[in-house]
Amino acid sequence: MKLISACLLGIKCTWDGTDKYRNERAIEILKGEIVIPVCPEQLGGLKTPRPPQEIQGGSGEDILDGRFKVKNINGEDVTQAFIRGAEETLRIAKLLKASQFIGKSRSPSCACGQIYDGTFSNKWVDGDGVTVALLKRNGIEVIPEEELIPR
Ligand code: SF4
Repeated sequence: MKLISACLLGIKCTWDGTDKYRNERAIEILKGEIVIPVCPEQLGGLKTPRPPQEIQGGSGEDILDGRFKVKNINGEDVTQAFIRGAEETLRIAKLLKASQFIGKSRSPSCACGQIYDGTFSNKWVDGDGVTVALLKRNGIEVIPEEELIPR
């Protein structure tokens, strides 16, 4: 059983109301597996569409530890929604005994390895999204989409 960022399967849950469906290989590769789509930002109570958001310094780990904030491009603090979304995603993973999560690249929630740098200028830094940080802390393996879904 796996969880996956819902936008990668074509669910229109991204900040601008679109999806991040890459190509039919995503479906082919996952065929025959039980894969549950989740959107941590929607689970955290954020609406769709919504202003873009980025972690302001640090990474998802730092957000969980209260060291930095997640803000949207208007400067509004959405940190608690991100933490709530991470907790709800973890709840689903535990309920379903999911052992893996496939995360969308560079998302402040779902990314594994690289995230946008907080300047809203399409630059990125090393680090994980908030949900990925919480899942990793709880022993769930996180697979970056690039490892699984060819572009
Ligand atoms: Fe996709 Fe994750 Fe962002 Fe939701 S929170 S739109 S699933 S990357």
